[in-house]
This record gives sequence, structure tokens and C-alpha cells, in this order.
Amino acid sequence: MKTSLLQLFALDKNGRVQSVNDVSRGMSCECYCPCCGSSVIARQGEVREWHFAHSLGADCEHAAETALHLAAKQIIVESGGFTIPQRKVTSQLYLPDGRSGFGEALRPEMWIDFDSVESEKQVGMIRPDILAMLGNLAIGIEVAVTHFVDGEKKDALIQLDMPTVEIDLSNMQFNELNWETLKEIVINSTDSKYWIVMMDKVSLENEAHQLALDNAYEKPLLAQEVTFHAKDNKVRFYINRKMVDLTELPFGVSIWTPYDPSINEIIKKLARSGGGKWQPKYKNWLFPIKVKSWLHSELTKLSDKHSFVI
Ligand SMILES: [Zn+2]
Repeated sequence: MKTSLLQLFALDKNGRVQSVNDVSRGMSCECYCPCCGSSVIARQGEVREWHFAHSLGADCEHAAETALHLAAKQIIVESGGFTIPQRKVTSQLYLPDGRSGFGEALRPEMWIDFDSVESEKQVGMIRPDILAMLGNLAIGIEVAVTHFVDGEKKDALIQLDMPTVEIDLSNMQFNELNWETLKEIVINSTDSKYWIVMMDKVSLENEAHQLALDNAYEKPLLAQEVTFHAKDNKVRFYINRKMVDLTELPFGVSIWTPYDPSINEIIKKLARSGGGKWQPKYKNWLFPIKVKSWLHSELTKLSDKHSFVI
């Protein structure tokens, strides 16, 4: 039982949420309970923490939570921006040659300015507590005092592909909250915030995946020597969907590829580093035998990534 929960916020005669710290004492605060609409008095005594109490009869059961929820929403709407929590996506993968890689895409917490912000606006099947716009991007903000985003709402948000932050106010020390401390928690701090649907999740996933691939390729090959296919001493790679054949010859290794300007640039670069020479007669590139393993590993790195096991 949260019987100690005090109502610290109430509506004034203009419908704005006020903290008990910022109003006149007693009936002269002219404030109302957000649940039942009856008048409340500001108790600003010496003994108990300052709070609102219904002027007639018992307090509403959820007045304190409802008022806190309204206060947080009002603060966000009026702030014009807030700090979003950090975004982190990690990826772990294995290459077919046994090497593994780890990648992490990280965006630290950051301030964003809203272009516009609205409370309780219907979006498709759902109604986020707050809908903030950043250009064309809609961001949902949920304030959880007693009700958290459930599985159904989360699914709907994922379907809408709407980045959404939830602010958890369920464990607040209600008796220490005033307007300024609530503003700090809701607007500036990210201690009580987390992503329900992460902003830019797909591009962060791609970045983490690419970093994991790079990390795996940076590791030395587990096999000491590259073994070519026994039958024809040839390995076929695909770079940008073009065939690239690496063939072991008695006097070197050759690269053959159907003519393509972009592939040609890639092979030229390899030739500069690895001592390869263009052979017009055979329409292929000949490299010294000693760079065979290096060439194999470079072509592996350049190969189309989709063919790898993740
Ligand atoms: Zn009430």
C-alpha cells in the first residue's frame, strides 16, 4: 500500500498543473483535483510535507499519481525539447573461416529540440502520452507512474516504427518532488528514461554489424596457408556481384574478372600493393606467388557480405 503518497500537484483555475510549493496557502490556491474536479487546499504546514488535500471529504484514490502524470506531461510540452537516452546496439558474428567479430554502435544521450509537441494525440491505433515532432520524425514519449507500456502497445509502436521513450516515475520519492526536481528528472536527466522503440535502430544495427565484420577480418586467419580447390587451383569470389577468379599457376597467381570499371579499380589497387601486372595477352592480372595468402584474404574482405554466415 502506497498510503504515504501525497498529492504534490493540482490543477489551477486555468487548467495548468501547479506544484504545492508554488501556490498560495490553503483555499486561496484555487486549485482542483485532476480526478474528480473538486477543490483542494494547499497544506503548507510545519510538520508534514506540503501537499494538496481535498477540501471536502476523502482524497481521491489516484489523485497523487494522476496529478504527477499530468505535471510531467505539462513539463515536457512546455520545455520544447528534452534529453534522449543513449542508444547502443551490439553485434556478434562468425565468419565461415572460424573468425569471430564483435561490434558496438553507440550514440550517447543527447538533447533534441522539438519542432512541435502535443499531448494525447491519436496516432493510428494508439495514443502516446506525448507526441513530439522532429521535422517529419514523430517521437513518442510515455510517462509511467502506475501504467507502463504493455506488450500490445509496444507491438503497435514497432508496427508504426515510431521511436518511443518511456520515463519511469513509479519509484519517485514523491515527498521530495517539486517542480524543479521533476523537471530535472523528466527533461534533462536520462536516469529514468529508456527506449521502448529505439530511434534509428536499423542503421545502428547495420553499423554494429559492419563493425563486427571489420573486427573479424582484422583478426589473423586461423589457417596458416590458403588451400585452393584441388581440381583446378581456382577460387571464385563475388565482389559487387561480379565474378573474381583467383587461380594458382606454377609461376604466380592470376586474377581474372569480366570487365567492369569499378572492379578494375579494385584490382588495380591490389596490383599496386601486391606487385601485380596486367597481362594483355591473357586479359588477366599476374601476381607473385608469395602474395597468394594476402591476395586471398584481401579478396575475402572485399567479397559480398551477404554470403557470410552470421
Ligand atoms: Zn479528487
